[in-house]
Amino acid sequence: MLKGKTALVTGSTSGIGLGIAKALARQGANIVLNGFGDNQGPRAEIAALGVKVGYHGADMSKPGEIEAMMAYAAAEFGRVDILVNNAGIQHVARIEDFPVERWDAIIAINLSSAFHATRLALPAMRQADWGRIINVASVHGLVASAEKSAYVAAKHGIVGLTKVTALENATTGVTCNAICPGWVLTPLVQKQVDAKAAALGISNDEAKKVLLGEKEPSMQFTTPDELGELAVFFCSSAGNNVRGVAWTMDGGWIAQ
Ligand code: NAD
Repeated sequence: MLKGKTALVTGSTSGIGLGIAKALARQGANIVLNGFGDNQGPRAEIAALGVKVGYHGADMSKPGEIEAMMAYAAAEFGRVDILVNNAGIQHVARIEDFPVERWDAIIAINLSSAFHATRLALPAMRQADWGRIINVASVHGLVASAEKSAYVAAKHGIVGLTKVTALENATTGVTCNAICPGWVLTPLVQKQVDAKAAALGISNDEAKKVLLGEKEPSMQFTTPDELGELAVFFCSSAGNNVRGVAWTMDGGWIAQ
């Protein structure tokens, strides 16, 4: 379905980004990976799906490096047809204790990076009259949790950015939508499970149940593969007129 298209997925060396990259590659899209840590393993996983794969290690908190990444993608792949703004970090603390440096980093990586990648991707998408921008927001783009001020502010911001991007391109073949997962068991959430287990003096498995029980009626984690299939839907022709939605995959979290 996506043969000949190129998808750039930020923060795709791990977790949800890697799951989405693999789902798009299974549909034939060439993939540009980004993110920290090991990139050889993820590159090999994508290449095994029979598509072209590239990697750029831009730090998504730095606009100049995002520009370099977009220039690399254009030079090596011709054009970015699908942009998935996924890179993100978390920090948990009350507002009065929240480190200012963590606030700035979360706003830069979880929100401003999407603005920069989007503004740089749009001209070529509009010229081709086809494009998909998928912003990985969160249920925290729609509702709040205590001790996550920067994350909730950034995720509400990215839901707003999604709507504006969708509206500004509504008469074209370029769509923009947000995905809002509940709990997904990735390294980002494992840290919160570990903190809960340590704070309550319980096992890792018990801490997972406590975490799910607080918010997610299904008592199940959503998987990166499931989120990848939602991204594939947005890229399909059935998604041609899906514009500006914030689509939850949250086990009923915000239905309550
Ligand atoms: P993760 O920690 O597994 O992956 C994060 C990715 O972002 C990694 O590839 C990491 O290297 C990359 N990254 C971090 N900082 C970066 C930077 N400065 N520059 C470039 N890359 C950077 O986390 P995840 O759970 O897969 O999270 C992915 C996205 O999904 C985030 O935006 C997160 O907010 C969102 N999300 C996660 C959950 C969840 O339960 N895990 C729920 C809702 C939304």
